[in-house]
Amino acid sequence: MRIGTKVIHAGVHPDPTTGSVMTPIYQTSTYAQDAPGVHKGYAYARSSNPTRTALETNLAALENGKHAFCFASGMAAMDAVVRLLNPGAEILSTNDLYGGSYRQIKKVHERFGVTGRFIDMTDLALVEQSINQNTRLIWLETPTNPMLGILDLEAICAIAKKHDVLVCVDNTFASPYLQNPIDLGADLVMHSCTKYLGGHSDVVMGAVILNDNGLAEQLAFIQNAVGAIPGPQDCFLMLRGIKTLHLRVQRSCENARIIAEFLKVHEKVNHVYYPGFEDHPGYEIAKRQMHDFGGMISFDLNGDKQEDAVAVMQKTTLFTLAESLGGVESLIGHPATMTHASLPKKDRLSLGLTDSLIRLSIGVEDVRDLIDDLVKALSD
Ligand SMILES: *Cc1c(COP(=O)(O)O)cnc(C)c1O
Repeated sequence: MRIGTKVIHAGVHPDPTTGSVMTPIYQTSTYAQDAPGVHKGYAYARSSNPTRTALETNLAALENGKHAFCFASGMAAMDAVVRLLNPGAEILSTNDLYGGSYRQIKKVHERFGVTGRFIDMTDLALVEQSINQNTRLIWLETPTNPMLGILDLEAICAIAKKHDVLVCVDNTFASPYLQNPIDLGADLVMHSCTKYLGGHSDVVMGAVILNDNGLAEQLAFIQNAVGAIPGPQDCFLMLRGIKTLHLRVQRSCENARIIAEFLKVHEKVNHVYYPGFEDHPGYEIAKRQMHDFGGMISFDLNGDKQEDAVAVMQKTTLFTLAESLGGVESLIGHPATMTHASLPKKDRLSLGLTDSLIRLSIGVEDVRDLIDDLVKALSD
């Protein structure tokens, strides 16, 4: 099956008890047993639930993996992956990592002896040099947030393999419609399903997808033993959202290209960060490893004044000022004061994350209305 069929059919079958075409919401915590230990494969709903099973089977198929595990949030999914490591292990990661992932490594895992090191992974020689005998996991995301940097997944996975280090790719920004890290050599893929997979800004959820049976057994153990599982209602909403993943992401990519080109020639705009531009440093890699360039755009303003950026964000009416991304509705945000407020200004600027930087998550509205909204917001 191709992805446009998998989103609808993978793991989804008419319910055996009633023929219900849509996967029922199995709103139960436990299951009747015929005799102690004799049941139909489901004993207690932390361990497994048929609605969740359908979703996990679907997600595994979308990422070309054998196994998938769902969690209560993207951050809970990451936590489960890090729990595969032992104290003394080091995670090698990128210097423009999602803020919540950085915080989890530094403020939670470092207290338990798993440390993080954060480097520029566009420099492949630096990636190889930075691996030491304690490095157990490379954790990365591409495209990055909010600078839309592109990392070479195939090259980084090849280096990791040589040194026997696991690679986990946070594939949230691309979604499985645009990029499949397992096909490029990654051991694990993590998603904040909250974003493109759910797609309607109404569920918080995470997932991990992988091929290796041994690691899958460990993750299944962690999922059950730690218990950060999503409920059946959320699994149902996620299954419903995923059915249109290909349509939604394709439309947001189309809209994003038109909006990026509009911004690029706008007199008030300084620079547009969009991996679909040929002069973007990651363009060739993005073209190779992604099916399209995604629905995220960042740009900053001439003069780089924070108050100018704030004025733009207060004048849009279709673009809602909010955190998050990947929904059908377009969002606008100010990384310097919202998602990256905790980063020291010097570090922020060294990443290119200027005071006037604005991040757009392009939705699936009619692009002409989105452009009209931006024209108005950027006018005096
Ligand atoms: C939102 C996000 C996360 C965190 O996911 P939650 O579902 O909010 O816990 C992790 N990585 C990236 C890239 C994200 O955008």
